[in-house]
Amino acid sequence: MSINTIDIKISPCVKQFYTLGTIIELKVHGPNAEKSIIEAISKLSQIDDKMSVFKDFSEVSIINRNAGISYCKVSDDTYFVIKRAVEYSKLSGGAFEPTIRPLVGLWGVNTDHARIPKLDEIRYYMRLINYKDIILNDKDKSIILRNENQQIDLGAIAKGFAADKVKDILIENNIENAIIDLGGNIYALGNKPDGALWNIGIQDPIKVRGEYVGIVSVKNKSIVTSGNYERYFIEEGKRYHHIINPMTGAPSENDIISATVISEYSIDGDALTTCVYVMGIKKGLKLIESIEGTEAIFITKDKQVYVTQGIVDTFKLTNEEYTYKTQ
Ligand code: FAD
Ligand code: MG
Repeated sequence: MSINTIDIKISPCVKQFYTLGTIIELKVHGPNAEKSIIEAISKLSQIDDKMSVFKDFSEVSIINRNAGISYCKVSDDTYFVIKRAVEYSKLSGGAFEPTIRPLVGLWGVNTDHARIPKLDEIRYYMRLINYKDIILNDKDKSIILRNENQQIDLGAIAKGFAADKVKDILIENNIENAIIDLGGNIYALGNKPDGALWNIGIQDPIKVRGEYVGIVSVKNKSIVTSGNYERYFIEEGKRYHHIINPMTGAPSENDIISATVISEYSIDGDALTTCVYVMGIKKGLKLIESIEGTEAIFITKDKQVYVTQGIVDTFKLTNEEYTYKTQ
C-alpha cells in the first residue's frame, strides 16, 4: 500500500501521513532523517496490512474468519503483539481484552452505525469475549480462536508496537533526536537537539486538541494517552466512548476521563493505558506502581490529576482549572 505524505518542514524533517486509522507525525533531526522516515512509513504500512481489522486480507482478519475452524500461521510481528496482548489480559485480570471485537462492532463507536445496543444483544456478544480462547502455538507461530464468531482486535496495543518499531528504525539510521507521534501515542527519542528534555503536553480531555493540563519533560520515553474525548457518540446527554469494560459489555464508566502512561516501550504504555482506563484510579495506580520504570497520570471527571510517585518531579501541572493530587 502506498501512503501519501505531507512535508511540513525540511529541517528537522517533519512528515505527516495517515495510517493505523490516525494522523501520524514524524519529526526527525539529523542527516538520515528523510531516509529513516521513508523506511518508517513502509514499516507502518506493513503493520497496518498485518494487524488491521479494517482490512479483509490482514492476518488478524484471517484469524477472525477462521475462528473455531483452523490455526493460522502469522508473521513474527503479529504473533508477538497477540502474545503480549494476552499477557496484559492476565496482568489486568481481564480488563484488557483482545477478543473484544464483537462488542466494539456492536456499539459501532466512530462509525455511521453507532448506537446503544439492547441488553440482550450485549449479553449475547459477551459470551464471545474471552482472551483465554486465544490459543497460541509457539512452535510454528500459529493462532486459533477457540469458538466460531470470536474476533481479535489489536486497536489498544498495535499502535504502541508500531511506535517501538519506528524508534528502532530511527536508531538503526543513527538518529539521535526525534518525536514519533502516532495519533497521541508518542515516543520521545533522545533529547531535543539543544540538549534539553522534550516537553510533552498532556491533552486537556475536555478542551480542543492542543490545550494541555500539564507537561512532562522526558527523554527516551513513550507517552501514551487513552481518553474518552476523540472516539465517542452522545445520546440523551450521555457520552458513549470506545473503551469497553469486558465485565459489563459497555463503555467503561469510572472517574477517569484520561489516562497517560510513561514507559520505556510504547507497546507496554499502549496496553497499560487501556488496562488502567477500565480498572479505575485505585486499582490502576496500584498496577502502575507495581511496574518498575513505568509512571502514570490520571485525570478525573471532577478535574483532579493523580500521578504515580516516580513522576512527581517530571510532571508540571500548567492548567489552574485542575487540582494536583499525589497519593
Ligand atoms: P486505546 O485505549 O489504546 O484502544 C481502544 C481501542 O481498543 C478501541 O477502539 C477498541 O478497538 C479496542 N478496545 C476497546 N476496549 C478494549 C479493551 N477492554 N481491551 C482491549 N482493547 C479494547 N480506525 C479507523 O477508524 N479506521 C481504520 O482503518 C483503522 N485502522 C487501524 C489499523 C491498526 C493496525 C490499528 C492498530 C488501529 C486502527 N484504527 C483504525 C484505530 C482503532 O480502531 C482504534 O480506534 C484505535 O487504535 C484506538 O486507539 P486509542 O489509542 O485511542 O485507544
Ligand atoms: Mg491502548
